[in-house]
Amino acid sequence: MSFKNFPMVAKVVFGRGSFNLLGEIIAPKRKNEQAPFIFLVDDVFESQTAFTSKIPLLYSDQVIFISANEEPKTSQVDALVEKIILNSSILPSGIIGIGGGSLLDLAKAVALMLTNSGSSEAYQGWDLIKNKGIYHVGIPTISGTGAEVSRTTILTGPTMKLGLNSDFTPFDQVILDPELTEGVSKDQWFYTGMDCYIHCIESLNGNFINSFSKTYGETALQLCEEVFLGSLGLEESQDKLMMASWHGGMSIAYSQVGIAHAMSYGMSFLLGTKHGIGNCIVFDHLEAFYPEGVKLFKKMKKKHNITLPKGICANLTTQQYDIMIDVALSLEPLWENAIGKDWKSQITRSSLKDLYSKM
Ligand code: NAD
Ligand code: ZN
Repeated sequence: MSFKNFPMVAKVVFGRGSFNLLGEIIAPKRKNEQAPFIFLVDDVFESQTAFTSKIPLLYSDQVIFISANEEPKTSQVDALVEKIILNSSILPSGIIGIGGGSLLDLAKAVALMLTNSGSSEAYQGWDLIKNKGIYHVGIPTISGTGAEVSRTTILTGPTMKLGLNSDFTPFDQVILDPELTEGVSKDQWFYTGMDCYIHCIESLNGNFINSFSKTYGETALQLCEEVFLGSLGLEESQDKLMMASWHGGMSIAYSQVGIAHAMSYGMSFLLGTKHGIGNCIVFDHLEAFYPEGVKLFKKMKKKHNITLPKGICANLTTQQYDIMIDVALSLEPLWENAIGKDWKSQITRSSLKDLYSKM
């Protein structure tokens, strides 16, 4: 086992209504009146004045509403950084991301790129970030990705979909307020929640498993089963899914994800399929690799009447299949975790093509 000495979120508050503490929490981090806090907020909240009026704005603080319809791109991060630099004579006091994995990742990336020169594209990979970013806070409004605890921010660039993985990436502060997940649609709740479930299955069934990851993974899995197969009340279900997401994220911090993630990255790179639904589409076909996990997944899908899109790879060209397969196969640690050191003898381009063609 290789040791990892990884940073964690420095401070976290949990509880229904804890969003109201935001102003108090960030106040001591304000450098001066000229250094604004920049709030990057999912644009589903733009028309929800009951919520936006609670964002604690002072002096020249700014709210930037951003659509999460497409996953974060390196070009989008670069444009946001440029906009922030042009609007303010000094570096902001902090970046606060409010939304799902998309907005959390954008907030992390922007905070890093304000203190690291050039394009974010140059930092896709492991430990390429040189300077500590500015103070950044994450406030999830949908549960499942674990982006609130992770040391990465996943960006799609011109040549790859790969995170800025670094010790400077994790949030300085997270606010876990399950009330914020109130408006999430049922399908989206399922897709993003299943991201957490799949993190657990891939981590617990992987070769990199160890007691650290196992403890978090088992807790998260248990919570997912209660949420998606039990009969919890709404509030308890929101609370538990938020904690499942946290634990699922912690589980993969010390292990790795697996085949569903490798294949859905390929799909997402080519077709723009979003992470949650993409993982579901792929995982649904992985019974050969995760028999128990897929069985339970199908049960959850049925219980919540979820119909996944079919045939999304049906009319692709050989060239397009090759792109998906190249991206999937490039994620070597994921395959090694799922299958073992000799994974290349078991996973071939044609076996991946077969799988993709069923999706
Ligand atoms: P998302 O942020 O893309 O949001 C999904 C949808 O839910 C959007 O339409 C959004 O507007 C909506 N939404 C969010 N909160 C809402 C609310 N309270 N009410 C109503 N609608 C709401 O979804 P996600 O699944 O959380 O995140 C996916 C992203 O996370 C991907 O870009 C993926 O790459 C990234 N990700 C990152 C990590 C990491 O460790 N950094 C891990 C997994 C996934
Ligand atoms: Zn995931």
